[in-house]
Order: sequence, then C-alpha cells, then structure tokens
Amino acid sequence: MTDPIDIVIVGGGTAGWMTAAALAATVGKDYRVRLVESDQIGTVGVGEATLPQMKDFNDHIGILEAEMMARTQATFKLGIEFRDWGYPGSSYIHPFGEFGRPRGGVDFLQHWVRARQAGEAEPIEAYSYAVQACRHGRFDFPVEDKSEINSTYAYAYHLDAGLYAAYLREFAQARGVERTEGRIVGVDRHAESGLVEAVQLESGEKVSGDWFIDCSGFRSLLLGETLEVPFEDWSEWLPCDRAVAVPSERDDRPAPFTRSTALEAGWQWRIPLQHRTGNGHVFCSRYISDDEATARLLENLDSAALADPRVLRFQAGRRSRSWEGNCIAVGLSSGFLEPLESTSIYLVQVAIMALTRLFPRRRPEPALINEFNRLVDYEYDRVRDFLILHYHLNQRDDGELWRHCREMSVPDSLAEKMELFRRRGFIDRYRFGLFAPPSWISVFLGQGLSPAGHEPLADNTPLEDAIGRMRELQASIDSRVQVMPAHGEFVADYCPAT
Ligand code: FAD
Repeated sequence: MTDPIDIVIVGGGTAGWMTAAALAATVGKDYRVRLVESDQIGTVGVGEATLPQMKDFNDHIGILEAEMMARTQATFKLGIEFRDWGYPGSSYIHPFGEFGRPRGGVDFLQHWVRARQAGEAEPIEAYSYAVQACRHGRFDFPVEDKSEINSTYAYAYHLDAGLYAAYLREFAQARGVERTEGRIVGVDRHAESGLVEAVQLESGEKVSGDWFIDCSGFRSLLLGETLEVPFEDWSEWLPCDRAVAVPSERDDRPAPFTRSTALEAGWQWRIPLQHRTGNGHVFCSRYISDDEATARLLENLDSAALADPRVLRFQAGRRSRSWEGNCIAVGLSSGFLEPLESTSIYLVQVAIMALTRLFPRRRPEPALINEFNRLVDYEYDRVRDFLILHYHLNQRDDGELWRHCREMSVPDSLAEKMELFRRRGFIDRYRFGLFAPPSWISVFLGQGLSPAGHEPLADNTPLEDAIGRMRELQASIDSRVQVMPAHGEFVADYCPAT
C-alpha cells in the first residue's frame, strides 16, 4: 500500500476551513489533510456578506442550509443597496436576479430602453422581482417553474464569518482533517527544486507535506514571503486601503440585503445578522485619518455599538500567480479586492473548486498549474473591472476620492464594456465573468450611464405590445411581493439561531 498524499493547509480562517471542508468531502482517502493555525495570530474576522454561489459550494460538499444558517446567525441576502453612489440622495439595488423577461428573443433591457425613451416605462427596478422583495423587506425561496416571475432570482447569505469557520472546522474534523494549533516560524525548502518541504512550528515540531495550501491571510506566508511571488498592485484603480469595523445591536426587522452607503472618502457597509448588525467604513487613508473614519462610522450607526471599532489595512491586487510549485494560495494570501460586492469568499470558492478538479498526485504538473492560474486570474480581473465601475461612474462633488476616481483612466477591458453599453445597451455574457448582465445593468443605470440606442431586433416587437407587457409584468411582481413573508419572520421560522 502506498503512503497517502499529504496536504498541509496553512491557516484556519474562512479560506483555510473552506478548503479543508471541501477537500475532506471530495478528494478521497488517497489524501491526508492537516491544517495548522495559530490562535495567537487569529483571523481577519470580517467577511459577513456572500454571493449566491456560496449555496452551490455548501450543497456541493453536503452542508445543510438551514443548519448552517442557524449555526452562523445567518439571514438571507437578495442583493445590495447602493446609497449615494451615483450622487448624494440616489439609491439603487444590485439584485441577484433578472430585470423583466426576454421577449421575441430580445433581452428585456432592449424593450425597456425603447419604452423609457418614449416616456412609457418606470425605472428599471420596477421590473425586478428581487429588487421589489428587497424594497418591501420580504423573502421567500424562488420557485422552480421557470415560466413564473418569482423564479427569476437567487439568494445569498449574511453570516457571522467566525461562526462559519467554526462550523466548517467541525465539519472537516468529523471527516478526518487533523488540526494543529501552533505558530509557524520557519519554512523548509528543497535545496534544488525549491519546493516547500515542511513548516516549522514555534514548539519545534515540523509539519511536512507533499502539497501546501497557503491560507495564511494578508501575510501570504508561503506564496508571498517564502516563494516571493510578486504582488500586482491595483490601488491606482481601487485606492481604498483601510476599513474600520464595528458590530452593533441587532435589527428586529433585518433587511434582506446589504447596504452600502457612499461617504466622502469611502463607503459604509451595513449587514444584518440574527444576533447583531455588522458595520464597517472602507476608506482611502490618503483622504481621511483612522480617527476621522472611525468617528464617521460611529455617528452613522443605526443601533448601539457592541464592541470597540477595529481598523484593518489592505491593498487591492493579487499575486501574479496563485499556484507556484507545490504551493497554492487560497484567500487573502492570493489577493484582495475590497468588500464592495462581497467577492472574497466567492474567490476562495473559485480557487477551491478549480483545485479539487485539477489536483495532481505527487508532482507539480505544469499544464494543471497553468490552467489553475489562468482560471483564478480570469475571475480576479473581471471582478476588478466591476468594482472599478462603481467608483468611476460617479457624479459626487464632495470629496477628492470621487473626483480622482471619476477622472482616472480605467483598464481597457472596462472602457470597452462601458462603450458597448452606452451605444446599444449591449452586454455579452462572455466578457463579464462572475457578474451576469443584470448586475452590470444595475450599476450602469444606477450610477447614470444610459444606453443611447438599442438593438435593431427589438423593433420587431411593436412598441405598444412591449409597453403593455411591461405593465402586466410590473403588476404581477407587485401583487406577488405583497404576499411574501417578512424576511425576519421567514428567518425566525426557517433557521432560528442555535
Ligand atoms: P484570515 O482570516 O486572515 O486567516 C489567516 C489564518 O492564517 C489564521 O488562521 C491565522 O492564524 C493563520 N496564520 C497566519 N500566519 C500564521 C503563522 N505564522 N502560523 C500559523 N498560522 C498562521 N469577504 C466576503 O466574501 N464578504 C465580505 O463581506 C467581506 N468583507 C470584508 C471586509 C474587510 C474590511 C476585509 C479586510 C475583508 C473582507 N472580506 C469579505 C474578505 C474575507 O474576510 C476573507 O476573504 C476571508 O475571511 C478569508 O480570509 P483568510 O482565511 O484568507 O485569512
């Protein structure tokens, strides 16, 4: 019998325990998984808002939704409200769902643009089931019948990141993952190949392995510090570099969405959980001090703070390769894009899913490594463009950050997307990555970029027909949303905290 293949996971934050849980559930008994974490160092401890793809991850590894939600004090999330982003006083919701329905083989947006130009359409959010559910504070599961309007959305979770990591730890340990508590103080490498052979703990113990998964957080202990894989700095486009976070008292009527409010030198998040509300102010240290940013956050809270505010520092960007030799970085050790669209845990998930499909046996295989790096880079680049769009498309005149972002030159890939939307409302799925067309539509329109024209195919539907259909759709959404359960009641019934 051959020895099992040893995988060592360095770090036990969300990334480390998600990786451990997924490997334990999927890779089989040829592999032995060990996770090293340091209680003394702790985790980043934020990361409460997610994307709908998290449900796929949990389903894939066999996590039961209601149990996970109860254990993590979770609520449902149907989208994100952006307040004051286009200009002070403005508001729009980026929903996890469609706007309207296609007609005559043409996207709803195209009919809406024609009707809007004729003065016969409401703002686009009137035709989104998910947005209307958010606006009314309601939640229910989408129905399976795709012909129904209440099948046209998905949902994610707000959850306590610390509790989620603890839940995954229990899940992974029950499936054979071995946990070692200890601080890593050194890394051994093979003299010729440069491959990582072992990590040394403060206690003197050495933990050796065939593969090392670096989940050590911003420090990037293996990939960055040891293997010196360069960091690509994207702060010229995403200049926010700090956040101050504080929990506050719970909301009795939790909204089924995250709120993001633009401020003079950044923005503030508000995330309703069952036991508390998560709050944070993401800001650019060039334009505001830590003390001022903290004061601003505290004065904006809707409920009493439950702890002292905590400042976190970061830099936007990613490592030029996430997989080098026998070391694969997952999570903050591979890169970070600020939490505006809750994409970090999603990027962890992307890396894990790619890894479980491409995992070699004992030796690094260049074809697999290259494909992994290509997949991860692809996701990062597209998320980056989507985030930059939020900052770039603004008409705010209250801070240097906003003027800088409005006037900065953006990556060509984003400039092209904006131009196609401006001319035709054209959004082609292959160019846009994680975020589907409705996501881009909501930000383009919500922050003031409207199409000047529409696709010629839309003219095959008589305008009166299109307008009549839109009115029916709006009436149908309104009547159904009215009878949905209140979000807080739904949560209390489905997954009360344990
Ligand atoms: P960490 O949580 O930092 O874990 C690192 C682990 O490595 C720890 O266990 C630590 O003990 C261990 N470690 C480090 N050095 C050593 C050593 N020498 N020896 C032993 N162990 C070591 N993501 C979202 O998806 N949604 C959000 O809403 C969101 N909000 C965020 C807000 C802010 C302000 C920030 C900064 C991030 C946010 N994120 C969000 C990102 C999210 O928090 C992270 O992606 C996620 O928590 C994963 O972190 P991690 O596990 O990579 O790192």
